[in-house]
Amino acid sequence: MSDIKYFDHAATTKMSKEVLDAMMPYLTDYYGNASSVYSIGRKSREAVEAAREKVAAAISAKAKEIYFTAGGSESDNTIIKGVAKAKKSKGNHIITSKIEHPAVLETCKQLEKEGFEVTYLDVDSRGVVDLEQLKASIKPETILISIMFANNEIGTIQPIKEIGAIAKENHVLFHTDAVQAVGNTPIDVKEMNIDFLSMSAHKFYGPKGVGAMYIRTGVVIDKLIAGGHQERSKRAGTENVPGIVGMGKAIETACSSIEKNAAYLSGLRNYFMDEVGKRIPHIRKNSNTDCCLPGTANISFKYIEGESLLFMLDAKGICASSGSACTSGSLDPSHVLLAIGVPVEVAHGSLRISIGLENTKEDIDYLLDCLSEIVERLRSMSPLYEDFLNGKYKL
Ligand SMILES: *Cc1c(COP(=O)(O)O)cnc(C)c1O
Repeated sequence: MSDIKYFDHAATTKMSKEVLDAMMPYLTDYYGNASSVYSIGRKSREAVEAAREKVAAAISAKAKEIYFTAGGSESDNTIIKGVAKAKKSKGNHIITSKIEHPAVLETCKQLEKEGFEVTYLDVDSRGVVDLEQLKASIKPETILISIMFANNEIGTIQPIKEIGAIAKENHVLFHTDAVQAVGNTPIDVKEMNIDFLSMSAHKFYGPKGVGAMYIRTGVVIDKLIAGGHQERSKRAGTENVPGIVGMGKAIETACSSIEKNAAYLSGLRNYFMDEVGKRIPHIRKNSNTDCCLPGTANISFKYIEGESLLFMLDAKGICASSGSACTSGSLDPSHVLLAIGVPVEVAHGSLRISIGLENTKEDIDYLLDCLSEIVERLRSMSPLYEDFLNGKYKL
């Protein structure tokens, strides 16, 4: 395990020691149900409420606007379906983008089957939504705009404040999936006119299976999970106290040094992007550097398969991703790369590197060495590359 080089922080992060230490008492001695009246129950309640304050502070919300969930997917589902149900009598139209996470896209597809109409906005070559198209798409039946804060495959950060202003002007509710953004880039839900926000602890060095939603005071939505009165009746189920405590600690740590961390990560990312371009020919850089998460780099290596690249990197102890969740070995190219205009054949050779705080320049140099060697080897076995060399084919 020790010689693993981990470059997949957009998939998940390693929980930090201080987060584990904060959680430990609630995994052992303080096991009380946060709804119970006796002392160990109250101890859990206090810990949950302290974490809620920290999560709220991180995005400039009020504590009572934060509801804990089991993660980003649950938050996305609860908010989008909750708005759809609550506002059905007002309208049936939802606006989102073509590059959302499956937790948003699949939820929208489910709603389409139930009679909702969904507009999927285009993005430009950097992955930024077209604000004019957004304005033009709003109609009297529009009940929700759901646009992700930052993309999980290419890292693009959207003009969230502008989108929030457009939503407000048109009296449409605005949700943002900020799972990749929290802890990586500053967020102020009031200034940005955000009505709903989703986040997940394991993307910022917290534990897996715990997340939160921000729901602006005054906005009423239907609940997804019915049952007890936990989370002020918005999300039933006994609170995951250790997870929530860990999330509070993780978000406090991440948000106290966003600028410093972003400078460190973007330094490594920019070094990687520059060097990879110098060392390996026939590549396409899919991540922009002007509106992008600090640690994310997505590149296509022409004439090779991304999956083969991943396996060979794994053999060298390198953890990376093809950028898309290639579930069940499906070879469908990434919907995000296609949306920014990457040709299908080029998209197949894509790699997502997501750099984290424990990575060093030496790690990046090792990655660059391995990549140069592997890409050259894969190309030497590729019939497409041979055709390219013979002038019969060009990507
Ligand atoms: C990881 C991720 C999710 C899903 O979060 P989980 O906590 O794993 O359910 C949703 N949206 C984005 C953008 C993500 O990166």
